[in-house]
Formats: sequence, structure tokens, C-alpha cells
Amino acid sequence: MKTYDAAVIGGGLAGLIAAIDLAKGGVSTVLLEKSSRVGGRAMTSNKNGVFLNLGAHALYRTGKAFAILQELGVRVEGGRPASQVSVLAQNRLLPLPTSPWGLFSSRLLSWSGKRQLMKMMMTLTKLEPDSLPIIPIKEWVEGEIDDPLVRKVFYALCRTATYTVEPEHLLAGPALSQIQRSLKGGVLYLHGGWQTIVDQLREKAAEAGVHIISNKRVAEIQQENGRVKRLHFADGEQMDVTYVISTAPPAETERLLQGGEHTVLKRWKEAARPSMAACLDLGLTKLSAQGPHFVLDLDRPIYFSNHSLHAQLSANGTVVTHLLKYNGPHESDPKEDERILEETMNLLHPGWEKDVVARQFLPNIAVSHDFPHIGREMARGPEVPEVQGFYVAGDWAGHGEFLADASAASARRAAQSILKKCRQAAVIG
Ligand SMILES: Cc1cc2nc3c(=O)[nH]c(=O)nc-3n(C[C@H](O)[C@H](O)[C@H](O)COP(=O)(O)OP(=O)(O)OC[C@H]3O[C@@H](n4cnc5c(N)ncnc54)[C@H](O)[C@@H]3O)c2cc1C
Repeated sequence: MKTYDAAVIGGGLAGLIAAIDLAKGGVSTVLLEKSSRVGGRAMTSNKNGVFLNLGAHALYRTGKAFAILQELGVRVEGGRPASQVSVLAQNRLLPLPTSPWGLFSSRLLSWSGKRQLMKMMMTLTKLEPDSLPIIPIKEWVEGEIDDPLVRKVFYALCRTATYTVEPEHLLAGPALSQIQRSLKGGVLYLHGGWQTIVDQLREKAAEAGVHIISNKRVAEIQQENGRVKRLHFADGEQMDVTYVISTAPPAETERLLQGGEHTVLKRWKEAARPSMAACLDLGLTKLSAQGPHFVLDLDRPIYFSNHSLHAQLSANGTVVTHLLKYNGPHESDPKEDERILEETMNLLHPGWEKDVVARQFLPNIAVSHDFPHIGREMARGPEVPEVQGFYVAGDWAGHGEFLADASAASARRAAQSILKKCRQAAVIG
């Protein structure tokens, strides 16, 4: 089998970005993906001409992924959702006040609640999250917000920005930075879905000289004398390599690496707190005109958004909505979650079922394999210090970033570390 200097395991956003950076830096690179197509969780399915991402996806305009994609020449086109937010409070749908007049006339909050919400919004704009001590966001909320309903509003915004339902674990500093990012820079819903990014990254990788092999599952990473040596594949083939970047989840990465249980990977796996979600993604011929387009439930961790209001997600004007229930690590009950999501849809858009042209239910998908939390080092990887030549990337290998931003930033860090090693080796050699 042909040999390469570097192998990247996994063809999601992290793997594609890392492979492009390596190949552009002059390193011969192979990208190995176990599925039949690249994209990982950034794939979009095309159901009868309707583009459905794997759950609601929004790209942060001031995040690391956006910046790296732009730098790589990837066109990122889409629409910015408007700031009109409705909330569900005890099954009543009300507008979330976002302007002084909206606040004045709001039926959601008491007068003291209105004052607190205004104060909270002002605090969020001025705050410097990096200067905060290492505390969970729950502690920050309890010190800053008294009104129970304003707390619920804050937690709903926090969930939407971080995809995390564990305020007792989520680190305050990174969470508040992410909320500021969502309030200041906003997000984009992408025309054609996230597949458009994947397709362009795949093309850029091929142009840079990356050899992409799909349907290729890595079964073991062999090491010798503390150095990466050889990859073993599920189909029995082998490949010698000098550098490896794994973008597989933490538990799989530890399992793949020979002796992984004696490395820092064991600790990273055990400390990981995945953010999970049940998703109901729908293509509909129409949506009731008087129904809401963006809803945050204040009593249950539920989100609804009409993405096609801002992004083109079909050729014929089909409406695409995403409903999602955020789950903690062990909270999944697929049947019950599907029932809750359908019931929510009945409340928001009665009669929706007769208009369905495309439907996708994801019972419990990993949104992120980890997030910045108490008890986890702020900066994870890219090196695995016990094994020379072995690196990690992915949304669980962030340095304070969240979600796709963590995938993109960690991919770049891993590739840069390898390029630095290669330059040093060239100088010394
Ligand atoms: C419902 C949902 C909503 C989301 N919303 C947002 C959002 O709004 N904003 C945002 O920024 N992010 C969001 N994300 C997160 C974002 O999609 C992910 O962080 C990102 O796509 C992960 O990319 P990755 O490359 O790190 O991992 P993955 O996409 O999981 O890629 C890893 C790849 O490795 C492959 N692989 C694994 N093991 C092996 C092996 N042994 N051999 C070969 N290949 C292997 C897998 O098949 C996979 O393709 C969301 C995710 C979900 C699920």
C-alpha cells in the first residue's frame, strides 16, 4: 500500500481542515473515512430535494470555523436569523422582549423582571469573560440574576449558544464568550445546508493533493518505542505513517491507539461530557402564517426554528424547520423525546403533519463530544505527549471553543504542530 507522511482519521470538518493544512504545508497526506462519504456530522441529507442538516446547525459569524473556512477560500453563504424570538412559558407562547418598547409592553415579565432582563443584557455586552474565575455558569447566574423567569431566559439563551444543558458543569467564562458571540456577531443558516461547506472542503483537499479514501475504517494505531508506526484497517490492510491525527471521538481514539489506556487519552475520555440532542427535522409544504418562526421553551430544553426563512433549503420553496430537545449525557428516551417534539410542533403549528414532505428524526445524536467544563483542562491536545507523532482534533479537543469552532480550531492546531515538527526535522536533518 502507498505510504504517506501523515494520516488523518475521519473526514468530518476537523479531518478535512487538518488534511488541507498539512497538504498545503507540503506534507503527503491521506484522509481515511470509515463511512461511504465525508462530512461526518456536518453532512446534509437531500430528501426529495429538501436539504436537512443533521439537526439545527448555525455557523457563528465571529467563530473560529467561519474564520478558517474564509481563509481556506470556502464560500459561506446564508442568511442571518432575525432577532424576533418567542418563548414558551407554561405552554403559553409570548414574544421575548428585545427592544425597550418590547420590554415596556411585555406580558412575560414582572416590572422587576424587566429591570433584571435589561441589566442582564447590559452586563452581557460589557462583560470580559476571560477575567472571570473558574466557576460553573450556574454560580455566575446565581450571583447575577435573582428573578426566576429571567434566569430561565438566560439558561435558554445559554443552551442555544452552547448546546449544553449542564449549567452546574459548564464553565462560565467560555459560555459567556459564546453567548456574546451569538448576540454580537450572530449566526448564519447556510443556503443548501452545511453540505456546501463539506463539498468545498473536499474539493480543496483534493486540489491540495490529499488522498481521500472512504469506506476505510482504522482498526488500530500501532506504536513502537513511543512513536506512531503503522495503521491497521478493518479490511486487513496496513499502512506505515510518521504522523497521525485522530478526529474520532475520545473513547474511540483511546481504543484505537495501541496502549491508549496508558496515555492522557484515558483521562480525556473519562472526563468527556457529551452534549446530546433528539432532533425532528421537517420539510413542509407550508407553515401556518400566524405561527412563530423561532421559539425557545423556558420550561423544557426545547428549541424550534424555521431555517428556510433565512436560508434556501429547497428548490421549490419547501419550508424547513428544526425542532430539537437538548439532552444531557444519560437522558435519552427516544420514544418519549419524539412524542414531546411532535407535541411541541402541535402547539406551535397545529395541523403541520398533513404538510410534511420530508422528515428526519435523530433519536440521540452527539452534538459535541465534550465542552468546556469544570474538571477539564482548558486546552486539550493537540499532542498526546506519551506518543510521538500522534495528535487529536475534533469538537472534544477545544481550547475553550465550542462545537464546530472547536473542531476547526483544533484541526488547525494539530496540523500546525506537525508542520512545525517537519520543519524542525528538515533543519536538523
Ligand atoms: C444536532 C446537531 C446540531 C449542531 N449544531 C451546531 C451549530 O449550530 N453550530 C456549530 O458550530 N456546530 C453544531 N454542531 C456540531 C458540529 O456539527 C460538529 O461539531 C462538527 O461537525 C464535528 O466535526 P468533527 O470533524 O469534529 O467530527 P465528526 O463530524 O464526527 O467527524 C469524525 C469523522 O470520523 C469518522 N471516523 C470515526 N472513527 C473512524 C475510524 N475508526 N476510521 C475512519 N473514520 C472514522 C466518522 O465517520 C466521522 O466522519 C451540531 C451537531 C449536531 C449533531
